[in-house]
Amino acid sequence: MPDSRTVVAPADGPARAQCPYCGVGCGLELRPPAPDAHNPSWGTRGDRHHPSSLGQVCIKGATVGETLHHNRLTTPQWRARLDQPFAAISWEQAFALLVDRIKATLARQGPAGLAIYGSGQFLSEDYYVANKLLKGALGSNNFDANSRLCMSSAVAGYTRSLGSDGPPCCYDDLDLADLVVLIGTNTAECHPVLFQRLLKRKRKVKEALRLVVVDPRHTPTAEGADLHLAIRPGTDLALLCGVGHLLLELQALDQPFIAAHTEGYGALEALWRQWTPRRVADLCGIAVADLQQLALWWAEAAGVLSLWSMGVNQSREGTATVAGIINLHLVSGQIGRPGAGPFSLTGQPNAMGGREVGGLAHLLPGYRSVANPQHRAELEQHWGFTAGSIASEPGLAVWEQIEAMERGELGLWWVAATNPLVSMPSLDRVRAAVARCPLVVLSEAYAGTETAAVAHLLLPAAQWSEKCGVMTNSERRVTLCQAFRQPPGEARPDWAIFAELGRRLGFVEQFSYDSSAEVFAEFIAITAGRLCDLSGLSHALLAQHGPQQWPFALGTAPGAGQARLYTAEAPYPRAPVGHRFPTATGRARLWADPPLGLAEPPCDAYPLVLTVGRYLGHWHTMTRTAHVARLVKQHPEPLLEVHPLDAESHGLCNGELAELTSRRGSLRARVQVSERIRPGTVFLPMHWGGSHTNPCEANRLMHEEACEHSKQPELKAAAVRVCSV
Ligand code: SF4
Repeated sequence: MPDSRTVVAPADGPARAQCPYCGVGCGLELRPPAPDAHNPSWGTRGDRHHPSSLGQVCIKGATVGETLHHNRLTTPQWRARLDQPFAAISWEQAFALLVDRIKATLARQGPAGLAIYGSGQFLSEDYYVANKLLKGALGSNNFDANSRLCMSSAVAGYTRSLGSDGPPCCYDDLDLADLVVLIGTNTAECHPVLFQRLLKRKRKVKEALRLVVVDPRHTPTAEGADLHLAIRPGTDLALLCGVGHLLLELQALDQPFIAAHTEGYGALEALWRQWTPRRVADLCGIAVADLQQLALWWAEAAGVLSLWSMGVNQSREGTATVAGIINLHLVSGQIGRPGAGPFSLTGQPNAMGGREVGGLAHLLPGYRSVANPQHRAELEQHWGFTAGSIASEPGLAVWEQIEAMERGELGLWWVAATNPLVSMPSLDRVRAAVARCPLVVLSEAYAGTETAAVAHLLLPAAQWSEKCGVMTNSERRVTLCQAFRQPPGEARPDWAIFAELGRRLGFVEQFSYDSSAEVFAEFIAITAGRLCDLSGLSHALLAQHGPQQWPFALGTAPGAGQARLYTAEAPYPRAPVGHRFPTATGRARLWADPPLGLAEPPCDAYPLVLTVGRYLGHWHTMTRTAHVARLVKQHPEPLLEVHPLDAESHGLCNGELAELTSRRGSLRARVQVSERIRPGTVFLPMHWGGSHTNPCEANRLMHEEACEHSKQPELKAAAVRVCSV
């Protein structure tokens, strides 16, 4: 198989790569263990040459070299039934089985019977080949990724308001803003290097930088804030409307910008007029004075930067809340200039790359849409498939894939580089649905994940570090990640697995790549002229000149990619005047979405709201971080945060076990009585799955109600009751 075993050994220095954890995308330098060392861990430190992180790393990045060899899946394994043990098989047998079952599913159910659920852990090349195989060769748009659970509301929000996906800001804006609003993001723990950059500047310039945090918890992020608005869960959009109301009263709107560059202002103003400070403060559970303070700082600031992540996105009104943030930036002209803009922080290391290559069920490469006939035709031609090969309807988003399995409509569900049996909501329902699927395939670098328990066929995947390809971080910066060690056993890169399968299914010409560099070259060619234009990049250029920001059109000089979108001078989207947006009219759209609140509000039977989140030292479902002693010592078990008032009224004691029950099930966790959480709300980390010695499947309790635009489930809030054990 071409390139599947390629390894670029560090020759005259360390290997360089992007950190494979969060979307900050810090640069890493990795050095191999000494040949005679007993410890096979690679040495890891920050890459001072990486422009996004300048040598900084957090504890996860600093310890990732300790995780490379742990708990690896090394051979294909198969079992016909879930009650049987796995038996090792060869790749030949695995591919023969896949070809056979894919053909049988196509004959019986058509392309709609096939689905892939991929991951922001993919390199862009993995994403690209998987999409080409399923959407192009097999005619099914049922390719979705775990980004659906993470930031699809940001994608939908940018697209709906600005005309295209693509964060318009860059990390340098952290150094230039004088007001940073962190809403629905625990940046200190989830994007630590960015938060440290903010704190460092705050210590230096003091009141010249205001930090405002909007979060029901007094997180480590809130500890560093000038103002913490501990709103009730589900009231973010109402808060944003309240800020808009006050900006109107303060006459702080940029009327020339509104007139020249936006549409829909009248309806938005009418909505905001309804959201008086008193009404907003009562609903959000905050003081009117605090709301006024935020609005006043916004009105006075030369540069306002909003940062958000899953606290906004994981909501049934996630897209509307993103629009609410963007609305405020548009009406105050706080976009398209240094130190200003609505900036979504991505969770996964290559969620951004996944968006670029069309890694969701409604997308095609180059920020294209499957619903657009011209876009489909462009891809069919580029990929070398006949006209009409790509289906015209969006495929199934991941929760829709679960529902399709419930109805017996999927013949094959292929999960790659993710662990949905921990990360999905309503896990008991997911487990039951998946058990109905005749063939569940899992390509995975790690052995024994919770998802392996529901799989029939396991395919050992090379992880980051063992394959070469690119990742894009939150500020649109593309980093070439070198392969610097051999994959263990028979593990292969995901892109090579999908390409081999494509050839065996008869698409020899379309999937005959000699290297991942060739895959990348094919991908970037179709981005020319798009907002996410990467057509001037190549593996060779990235290796020689380091990470680059897009847009980076053919002929762009290294280092001359565009830091910000929609600026007064911007050539993107190709426009004769500045601040032009890629909508039909060239204007950004203001949306007047009325706040809805939680899909499952608290009630007499379930009087508390459970919200879930992350710890600094752990990553998602802990397939890697559970093997780093330092991190486990830091976070040995999941703790249920309960406010002292709720602890008293529910008879809970600090350090003792409590039982938490939602409409979907119960679990037990140790109580941590803390004033960090607002009364009426309890918190659990989402990292622990069912296979740990201290299992605590927080997402099992969460519901699947999703945003109508983004189809992102409301994983951040569910009604629960709690009692002592
Ligand atoms: S901040 Fe994110 S990308 Fe940077 S080292 Fe930490 S986990 Fe890795």
